[in-house]
Amino acid sequence: MVATRTPLIAGNWKMNLDHLQAIAFVQKLAWALDDAKHNEADAEVAVFPPFTDLRSVQTLIAADKLKIAFGAQDVSTQESGAYTGEISAAFLAKLDAQYVIIGHSERRTLHNEGDDVVAAKTAAALKHNLVPVICVGETAEDLEKHGPSAVPVAQLEEALASVSADSDIVVAYEPVWAIGSGKAATPEQAEQVCAALRESLRARLGDAIADRTRILYGGSVKAANIAGFMREPNVDGALVGGASLDVDEFAGIVRFRQ
Ligand code: PGA
Repeated sequence: MVATRTPLIAGNWKMNLDHLQAIAFVQKLAWALDDAKHNEADAEVAVFPPFTDLRSVQTLIAADKLKIAFGAQDVSTQESGAYTGEISAAFLAKLDAQYVIIGHSERRTLHNEGDDVVAAKTAAALKHNLVPVICVGETAEDLEKHGPSAVPVAQLEEALASVSADSDIVVAYEPVWAIGSGKAATPEQAEQVCAALRESLRARLGDAIADRTRILYGGSVKAANIAGFMREPNVDGALVGGASLDVDEFAGIVRFRQ
């Protein structure tokens, strides 16, 4: 039996919105979802603000009991100690963050994070009961050389080193060529790779985790193209960058069924 998966629409703010802007944004998003009578069973909504915003966002969500989850954009591989500039999974868990993005292509390229670092960060997140949103994806060159799913599947397999059959994870397939380019993958392309990622989870860790894990597509998602992705059986939501910074556009993505 195939498990039903609640779609996840996740907004990766990257290095945008300071803590005051974050408060205003989350408030407006909550109003927009309320106005639209958003039903959580249709999609879970999560935002990923910069570290400096997390405490403000957490306080607002808790005080107003908002149905918006939140997470961080990165995490340290280390527990604590002399690691200037790093933020531990323990700190994020203490803040009630539910998620953390790991291995985003911008971290992989701009900060030279390899698959070993991604695996160590995934282990750190799981140790503190944070759900890692493990990002994988091929460059245009990889696509030409190796075809559509070889690189993302290999990246996922490396990241799974510390994942067990009962772990709670999210996988995000983000082709590097589609991120911020305005040139999204087609729903068929996304489905092909997401299905291959699910099969790799199944082969390594079994049916239960393969059937319950949400696999997101990311890369130039907007309100106008989300519905096509969501019709695909192996695409369970989206990781949204640019379009997550506009309340109406992001709310429009959350309402993909309408
Ligand atoms: P984009 O970014 O939606 O702006 O393409 C996606 C991402 O980087 O997660």
